[in-house]
Amino acid sequence: MDSLVRSDISALEGGAAAEATDMHAPENGGHARGRGWIEVICGSMFSGKSEELIRRLRRAKIARQKVQVFKPRIDDRFDEDHIVSHSRQRISSQRVMTSTELYAAVEPGTRVVGIDEAQFYDDDLIDVSQRLAAEGRRVIIAGLDQDYLGRPFEPIPQLLAVAEYITKTLAICIQCGAPANHSQRLIASEERVVVGAEDVYEARCRSCFDPGLHHQ
Ligand SMILES: [Zn+2]
Repeated sequence: MDSLVRSDISALEGGAAAEATDMHAPENGGHARGRGWIEVICGSMFSGKSEELIRRLRRAKIARQKVQVFKPRIDDRFDEDHIVSHSRQRISSQRVMTSTELYAAVEPGTRVVGIDEAQFYDDDLIDVSQRLAAEGRRVIIAGLDQDYLGRPFEPIPQLLAVAEYITKTLAICIQCGAPANHSQRLIASEERVVVGAEDVYEARCRSCFDPGLHHQ
């Protein structure tokens, strides 16, 4: 967690991150029994999104809540059936292609639904998340909020609008050490995300970020 600087109005339940400023949000008690809600964890690459997602899901498991975790089939890094953070925290997950497939895979008794790499899903993820919350589930979504040009990355902006709790994670700028909000691409590519090639990105702050760099 030491690479994290967070400013959030968040659903962090614990005091695990010394640098986080959070308002404690419901794990069990804050919301009435049977009510659902949506939490979004978003930020640049290397900002600790998956780490934070895994932390919340683990706590739900400790509380003996039934948890299901999903990641897009496009993401082949590290491990087939786990979400793994950069610091090697892991939790078992299911792989799905589309939001519709995700919704269909959620089992009746599931209380908490974790969704990693949400930027790889279609816009139906917004509706699917709303439905899951309406059914009384806690939905925790992690994803990139900007692409390599600094443009808002759908469906995260729309999910932020409908979420009850939002956590913005910041990395550390590789150039100057300031809190970093951008994923700087270091190679030429017009793909919106170069999958499984995180060594061609680095975290940068607003001043050091150069959206034209990948053309040079
Ligand atoms: Zn910088």
